[in-house]
Amino acid sequence: MSHLFRSFIVVFCLFTLSWAQPGQWSLAIHGGAGADPAQMTSQEIAATEKALEAALQIGIKILQDGGTALDCVESVVRSLEDSPEFNAGKGAVFNAQGGHELDASIMDGKTLACGAVASVKTVKNPVSLAHRVMTETRHVFLAGEGAEQFATEQKVDRVDNSYFSTPQRRADWEKTHVKGTVGCVALDINGNLAAATSTGGLTNKKWGRIGDSPVIGAGTYADNRSCAVSCTGTGEEYIRRSIAHDISARMLYANSTVPEAAKAALDSLPDDTGGMIVVGHDGTIVLLFNTAGMARGAADSEGLRRIGIGDTDRDLEDL
Ligand code: ASP
Repeated sequence: MSHLFRSFIVVFCLFTLSWAQPGQWSLAIHGGAGADPAQMTSQEIAATEKALEAALQIGIKILQDGGTALDCVESVVRSLEDSPEFNAGKGAVFNAQGGHELDASIMDGKTLACGAVASVKTVKNPVSLAHRVMTETRHVFLAGEGAEQFATEQKVDRVDNSYFSTPQRRADWEKTHVKGTVGCVALDINGNLAAATSTGGLTNKKWGRIGDSPVIGAGTYADNRSCAVSCTGTGEEYIRRSIAHDISARMLYANSTVPEAAKAALDSLPDDTGGMIVVGHDGTIVLLFNTAGMARGAADSEGLRRIGIGDTDRDLEDL
């Protein structure tokens, strides 16, 4: 079935002031570009929506209780990693060798502290290992065997590589390419921004291939002066253009608003590449993609509670 490649953008802009006020918070999540409701069964749609709701609920509780944006993005991404519906943690795609190699990153917009891991094979929640790289080392990025050894030192939860396999991902691997990375961006009540992204990468990727998700400035970025960004899609295109940092830079250098900056970055990507979620320092939330769909959700302190997969969103009455 052919799909009309046009970009889709949702903007939630509830705050009229140029900086968020104390007590205001915003949150956005994604479960990957490429989720196309037309290609999903009703059970798959229901399971994806349920997992998005559960993750959103975790983030809402943390931000409502005065927790930090950094805690929020880590906890939300952990929940999405544990959901087999998404291509991160449990449910990560297969690489060309029939195994799983996972990438993740996290960034604190207050200090620009960040951490990332790539090509890890036995770490149950890569986003938490990325957080440890940020807090427990003087480095930003650990990959492969070194990252595994660091996981042992840090005593994070470990699993056999087969833990990440699901029948659905095996079928995808045999059939086609899927995308379903997860990410979260948040603004907390103290005006701090954070972003996190986690992925199994692209189906059938070459052994050792690393995408944009763990690359700070490509798939993930946060700076309190501008915005927090988490991307999803064909990672090579995001790395080429430093997309996440580009959005922040457009705001800082060209005085673009969050929607203008995000739209310009999306427009610089080829059709059907992916999407991104962005929260601005003023609390504006933008979710956009140029694929058939992107599993996503948004919430804020003004009562916004929405999720969507294709080109429609719906309110969650019960959150
Ligand atoms: N961006 C991820 C990567 O290229 C894939 C995705 O978002 O689905 O590894």
